[in-house]
Amino acid sequence: MDDKVKIRCPYCTRLFRDRAQRIRDGYQINCEHCVRLITFTRDTEDPFMRRTMKLARETRLAIEAKVVAEREASAAAARTAREY
Ligand SMILES: [Zn+2]
Repeated sequence: MDDKVKIRCPYCTRLFRDRAQRIRDGYQINCEHCVRLITFTRDTEDPFMRRTMKLARETRLAIEAKVVAEREASAAAARTAREY
């Protein structure tokens, strides 16, 4: 599963990617292209940054749901194994 989301630098407008787990309100990262510091905030006027934060949150939730599902599946498998 792809856990990276696209970030559009508000300074040079070029795109790069970072892990969804990191991107949240208050997160700071240096642009890969112009090396300027980008600060993620919920209150941003930048529609690209808003979209990135939304996508990052959705990706995090999807990853967490997958982890829970896998844990339940392995717990069920363990229960089945004990029955034999
Ligand atoms: Zn940049």
